Amino acid sequence: MTERATPFYCPYCGDEDLRPQEEPSYSWLCSGCRRVFQVKFVGLNLPQGVKK
Ligand SMILES: [Zn+2]
Repeated sequence: MTERATPFYCPYCGDEDLRPQEEPSYSWLCSGCRRVFQVKFVGLNLPQGVKK
């Protein structure tokens, strides 16, 4: 799994036209609002079930 996560929508304006940016790393450009933002996969938080 790569560290670059792929967003499907801009978190700011909801536009779907996102372009990967070389710098800074893991960043995306929203062509709708021109914001550049980073999306980084951190980890999984799985349900542990009932704790004993
Ligand atoms: Zn946007």
